[in-house]
Amino acid sequence: MANIIAIVGRPNVGKSTLFNRLVGTRTAIMDDVSGVTRDRHYGYGEWIGKFFTVVDTGGYVSNTDDLFEEAIKEQVDVALEEATVVLFVVDTFAGLHPLDEEFAHKLRRAKKPVFLVANKADTHDRANLSGEFYALGIGDVVYPISSQNGSGTGELLDDVVKHFSNDGIENPDEGIPRISIIGRPNVGKSSFLNVLLGRQRSIVTDIAGTTRDAVDAKYTAFNKEFIITDTAGLRKKAKVKEDIEFYSVLRSIRALEASDVCIIIIDSKNGLETQDLNIIGLANRNRKGIVLLVNKWDLIEKDTNTAKKFEDQIRSELAGMDFIPIIFVSVLNKQRIHKAIETAIDVYESRNKKVSTSALNEALLPEIERYPPPALKGKHIKIKYITQLPTHSPTFAFFCNLPQYIKAPYAKFLENKLREHFGFEGVPVNIVFRKK
Ligand code: GDP
Ligand code: GDP
Repeated sequence: MANIIAIVGRPNVGKSTLFNRLVGTRTAIMDDVSGVTRDRHYGYGEWIGKFFTVVDTGGYVSNTDDLFEEAIKEQVDVALEEATVVLFVVDTFAGLHPLDEEFAHKLRRAKKPVFLVANKADTHDRANLSGEFYALGIGDVVYPISSQNGSGTGELLDDVVKHFSNDGIENPDEGIPRISIIGRPNVGKSSFLNVLLGRQRSIVTDIAGTTRDAVDAKYTAFNKEFIITDTAGLRKKAKVKEDIEFYSVLRSIRALEASDVCIIIIDSKNGLETQDLNIIGLANRNRKGIVLLVNKWDLIEKDTNTAKKFEDQIRSELAGMDFIPIIFVSVLNKQRIHKAIETAIDVYESRNKKVSTSALNEALLPEIERYPPPALKGKHIKIKYITQLPTHSPTFAFFCNLPQYIKAPYAKFLENKLREHFGFEGVPVNIVFRKK
């Protein structure tokens, strides 16, 4: 069984600071752009040889009382559903707060271990103030800690990991596709996510100062598990335009880098724009899997050839990147959404595929014999065998006598043959020539 720590508590008590301390790296970045998506946020940690997952369920912030009530319930429900232990965080600076009582009320009935954590106890004096939280009636101990300087967190973890099995795994997300959803404003990214994730959608509310960047969240849709790197697509429109431009480009790039497969969405009314080509080029250079969705297909007047013509047009603009699957979707009409995510997962699997040396040689050596590399300066080039290298994204080494004599068009020919035989749709493949 996985060891999972869930962190709950009202805003500003230091949940994300604690999260960062427990997972050991700063995965959450806070900025001041208004309009917030906070979601379940996962990270991994280890304490005295036990591995665990930390979930920051701080997925709410709101101005209205109604939403608060609902959000607290939701946060606690998520925590109790997912966690092995719950850390209920309060703030020694602020003291006992009415919202703490509401959390306590819901947590007292929990069947799972709940640790009451009095945060911001940066000094001894401050730690002594944590006594007032006994009034919340959660457990027999209050743990004064400072998420900022780390004091008290060791004692807390010592007690927390007593509830853990030893078989926690280092990275339980290994093997689960990480997908980013990228596109210019208004192409339908949020709508796509909402349709895809349905009611699993995170809570989106408006409050300044709590925005997070590059948040990962794990989802299941159509029976497939995957991680969306960066849920920015779900956030509400922020108020300052320049910020949004800047953050959206920066965020796209970061999300792209953190993912295995990029789903790039364009608007069928606008076609491929320069910025789309830049992003696709970047994904290609980073050797990410790529799926292109042409959205708002419902707005296009169609005859029998429309899709074909449209696809040909896009393919000509994509130039050398003809391996990218193109899917015409209408998020509005929920058309081909399933196919889109299925394709992204297929691309992920292809990207991890290993082809045996014998299969490569059997398929490709006859092709090479039929159409050998052109001689250069009177010298014959002989490719002897092919093998896939043990790299992260598919790389194929062609061993030959004169590697430096093979030119780009022939490499392209080999890539095409490789794809003909072994697929790799949506996956950039790297071809290298080595001397043998
Ligand atoms: P969240 O809304 O519960 O996730 O809270 P944050 O982690 O965003 O923290 C809210 C504020 O409290 C930030 O300004 C943090 O720097 C501050 N903070 C968090 N932990 C500590 C702590 O241990 N000591 C002090 N002095 N400040 C802290
Ligand atoms: P984002 O900025 O990329 O997240 O785009 P949104 O998801 O906010 O969508 C922008 C606008 O396009 C909204 O008004 C959506 O209702 C609309 N939209 C999204 N998908 C479709 C679609 O398939 N067809 C049509 N006609 N409109 C769509």
